[in-house]
Amino acid sequence: MVASAERKEQFVEKVVIIGSGPAGCTAAIYCARASLKPVMFEGFVSGGPAGGQLTTTTDIENYPGFPEGIGGMELVMKMKEQAVKYGTTVLSEDVDSIDLSKRPFTIKGSGTTVEAMTLIIATGATARRMGVPGEAKLWNRGISACAVCDGGLPIFRNKPLAVIGGGDSAVEEAVYLTNFASKVYLIHRRDKLRASAVMQKRAETHPKIEMVWNTTLTDVKGDKLVESLLLSNVVTGKESELPVSGLFYAIGHVPNTSFLNGQIELHDNGYIKTVPGRTLTNVKGVFACGDVQDSHYRQAISAAGSGCMAAIDAQKCLENIEV
Ligand code: NDP
Repeated sequence: MVASAERKEQFVEKVVIIGSGPAGCTAAIYCARASLKPVMFEGFVSGGPAGGQLTTTTDIENYPGFPEGIGGMELVMKMKEQAVKYGTTVLSEDVDSIDLSKRPFTIKGSGTTVEAMTLIIATGATARRMGVPGEAKLWNRGISACAVCDGGLPIFRNKPLAVIGGGDSAVEEAVYLTNFASKVYLIHRRDKLRASAVMQKRAETHPKIEMVWNTTLTDVKGDKLVESLLLSNVVTGKESELPVSGLFYAIGHVPNTSFLNGQIELHDNGYIKTVPGRTLTNVKGVFACGDVQDSHYRQAISAAGSGCMAAIDAQKCLENIEV
């Protein structure tokens, strides 16, 4: 890691990467191995942790190459180590703003300003949380925002579980959890799902899923692990307690794009627009990868794959090869 003060301000970098989750680290590994001497801002613009969402999950059992599973933090630390080993400079700073009006681009961190010929944006997305009182204590102790990542953990096997949300993700997560759970409660604040018709039918007819309509979560209870949910019916005002061993949030994600300040084209849902199947944004020389441009798959492995693509696209761009 190179301290900010040691950097020469007038030097124009070939490539700067913002974000240090699987997408950012993979982009850094590929850029470093292509001798581009990448600079990676590892802090998250949203104020979230360096390393991204993986650092907030426990065991990862679906990342290829780790048959015994690996801790989320450990996985992302290994990725960073690999990036540094091949010559990535890591700046432990958030990016406050960028200027894409001319090339080289200007990237202003909280302590360092860098100029770069290409920019890879890998700032990820943040899963929305409910913010109920027991949440902080029981996060990763039965509460998760990713059923695909965590649903298969032993603490959830053959236990009653709950999913909060009414969109496609909520249904998808609930159906996925039926593979492990004795029963899944799908708790939604309205009396109709937002999910597509086919997904609605899947949830409402599934023998292991019970719909809990017009209901919001007011608290999560448990000593060491989740034991029950406190619920409130928004129509009747009735309070109730539901014993479950796991709670999965599926109330949407927020892509970390606020620092872009309108300089990159976004979809209506706030995710960065890229050329379909590619990492190119609407600004030449700026590439986006990982969850900040993917509202659909949102997996560590797919983020890593798109990080590799962004690095190759940036390299081609620097070589003036049409990308
Ligand atoms: P959505 O924004 O579609 O749904 C979020 C859900 O969470 C809504 O039902 C919303 O309720 C509920 N919600 C939001 N905030 C709160 C809160 N504070 N308390 C309680 N409930 C809350 O997000 P998704 O992640 O489900 O989907 C994102 C996009 O990805 C969508 O376009 C979706 O179609 C797509 N997707 C597609 C899949 C597929 O095709 N297989 C799978 C997964 C996602 P309300 O309805 O009342 O607003």
